[in-house]
Amino acid sequence: MEDPGPLFARAAALATEFRRDIATAKQRPTHNYAAAVPDWEGPTPEAGQPAEAVLEELVARAAPGLHAMTGPRFFGWVIGGSHPAGVAADWMTSAWGQNVGNHQAAPAASAAELVSGQWLVDILGLPAGSSVGFVTGATMANLVGLAAGRSEVLRRVGWDVEADGLFGAPPIRMVVGEDVHVSALSALQFLGLGHSRVIKVATDGEGRMIPDGLVAALEGGEGPAIVMLQAGQINTGACDPFPELIPIARAHGAWVHVDGAFGLWAKAAPGRAALAAGVEDADSWATDGHKWLQSPYDTGFAIVRDPEAHRRAMAFGASYLPAVAAGERDPTHYVPELSRRARGFATWALLRHFGRAGIAEMVERNCRVAGQIAAALREEPGIAVVNAVALNQVILRFGPERNAEEADRLTLATVSRLQSDGIAFAGASQWRGQWLMRVSVSSYATTEADGRMTAGAIRAAWRTVRGSNT
Ligand SMILES: *Cc1c(COP(=O)(O)O)cnc(C)c1O
Repeated sequence: MEDPGPLFARAAALATEFRRDIATAKQRPTHNYAAAVPDWEGPTPEAGQPAEAVLEELVARAAPGLHAMTGPRFFGWVIGGSHPAGVAADWMTSAWGQNVGNHQAAPAASAAELVSGQWLVDILGLPAGSSVGFVTGATMANLVGLAAGRSEVLRRVGWDVEADGLFGAPPIRMVVGEDVHVSALSALQFLGLGHSRVIKVATDGEGRMIPDGLVAALEGGEGPAIVMLQAGQINTGACDPFPELIPIARAHGAWVHVDGAFGLWAKAAPGRAALAAGVEDADSWATDGHKWLQSPYDTGFAIVRDPEAHRRAMAFGASYLPAVAAGERDPTHYVPELSRRARGFATWALLRHFGRAGIAEMVERNCRVAGQIAAALREEPGIAVVNAVALNQVILRFGPERNAEEADRLTLATVSRLQSDGIAFAGASQWRGQWLMRVSVSSYATTEADGRMTAGAIRAAWRTVRGSNT
């Protein structure tokens, strides 16, 4: 076997260079997609190339189209910063090449998932003994949690959905809030529950489900029901009022699933935990590692209070798989896949590196910076802070309140100006039919100084747009 030393060392050097420069780099790619495709195009390779040459070529071709997602002033889409402690563990994960399908094949990887899953449940304040499936992200975590719910509510009426599917099954009432995340609806689409065949409950100004609406939705029918709630609305960052909603769902025998992709992490910060109070009373939760835990892509967690329901929904019994003895745990029984990346290593490394205190500090700091940006911009004429900034999300609107069309235009112009300036990155989003700039503060790398720079950059972008408008 050839010595991989020089190749690996070169990769480490190139990665180091990239990350060292990220704070001062433009917080946007040089090439957009249309420009990036020609960067990669070429004839199908016929003869091979040495791996070191391929690495150099890969990095050169990628460079212009890389977004500074790991930078300190990247605020698009709610994205974590891929913390170096996780990246290094992820390199080991790739080097070790473990297939974490079962615990006999991959004892260390399976054990790392077991233990880091338990730590995660503890840090998020969820019920001890909940099972954790390591998936690619919150979309798949929603799918797993909802599959467990689907299994359990149908089992209670004597239907085996794993064996018999949904053909002829008692219908499930699927209840969501008006401001549910689109990816949670796609989980419904995969599960045969339908993204449109849902009962939508009205929400308040921050996107929180209104309890009376949930009462009406559940009283208006009968039979098995699943209620999907939310911790962290994608625009406002708001959490549903769990202490009011969960007892209502329970009284109607519904399974409660929570999409907590980033908002569930409020529970890890004592100063913010009240925002997600009561979320621990649900039946299942979806959250991301690659958002607030800063895991390298891709990592999400499907957490289920009743491990039996979780396992029933996900396990399969192919004869070549070693049987699971009592007390043993095969990671594959809690996720849709068989062969799978060992995500437990990076999760373990990040939890070990931050500790409970480090996660609390990071979540709290991100929320504080969000508040700081909102406070600074509220002072500026023509900028409106649209949400109550309680967590990490800030939504901004630019221009005259009374002229929606003009404000839409000015808002989009300000977003594009900010992006081309490249000091900070935020994207555009729609909320209640209006265009907004959305600033999602969710990176370990973001400090108060970045908050000041970002508020300054947004203010400057707005002043330029306003100036060229008059
Ligand atoms: C990001 C997000 C998702 C989707 O998560 P992925 O990790 O991208 O699959 C779902 N719901 C909410 C609220 C999110 O913020």
